Amino acid sequence: MNTDDYSRRRFVRRGLTLAGVAFAWSTFQSNSFARQAKVKSPTNPDEALAELSAGNKRYVTGKNIHRDFGPERPALAEGQQPFAIILGCADSRVAPELAFDQSRGRLFVVRLAGNFVDDNGLASMEFGASVLGACLIMVLGHNECGAVKAAVNVVTKNAQLPGHLPGLVANLRPAVEKAQQETGSLVDNAIRYAPEGGRIDLAVEAGADGAVFRVDDTGPGIPPDQRERVFDPFYRALGTDEFGSGLGLSIVKTIADRIGAGVSLGQSGSGGLQVAVSIPRSLICQGSG
Ligand SMILES: [Zn+2]
Repeated sequence: MNTDDYSRRRFVRRGLTLAGVAFAWSTFQSNSFARQAKVKSPTNPDEALAELSAGNKRYVTGKNIHRDFGPERPALAEGQQPFAIILGCADSRVAPELAFDQSRGRLFVVRLAGNFVDDNGLASMEFGASVLGACLIMVLGHNECGAVKAAVNVVTKNAQLPGHLPGLVANLRPAVEKAQQETGSLVDNAIRYAPEGGRIDLAVEAGADGAVFRVDDTGPGIPPDQRERVFDPFYRALGTDEFGSGLGLSIVKTIADRIGAGVSLGQSGSGGLQVAVSIPRSLICQGSG
């Protein structure tokens, strides 16, 4: 055997060894994905919503389980089985796969600044539902949305926007105009968040400086570190599952600021929320002449 033959054999053997490693790695990847594929996929809207809610709780508490995306690649090349369609905003901070802790192939996402739907978005969602079999459609809004803020500024301050933004904002305008007609009611808000069979106490207390109107409920309350933020339009307290626009307290605060009244939040005797509106005596006197 000459030196060339020896080198060739070593090369071939090394090649075979590398091929073996590659085969073992690809088998590991396939097995790994096979394990993932066995993860039960929701088959109805209730299960789908529960899965999204559970994933969001993992995300909020920093316990995400979907962090390694490599093993899922081979099977993803062969197909997808999304169980939910998400209509979300293009905002860089609200990536649905991360916010709901889902691996790729499980969410069919349509994103546009302001998360509204146009014909193309609707066609995409139809594809996700009728062809891919997703059983839930979620419209995902978020706080501090630049597109919504721009639309509010256009409607309330006649703001002028550059480029194609006026066309985008025109789609959001009806929602902003509808929200303007909402009346912020502390009692409505308390009823919305009080549990079934809960209790709401209303009280008016007269003092030397004016009057204080208090609303106490037996709902979940708002943690002290979030009490300032709930006055922001569209802000929803973390962990709140109740449906709402996030405008109620914002509107109350805006009205109170305009008339010179004060609004403060605290904890009711039952651990729920207490909202106190302080009305200066000067305002009360104005009303009675
Ligand atoms: Zn947004």
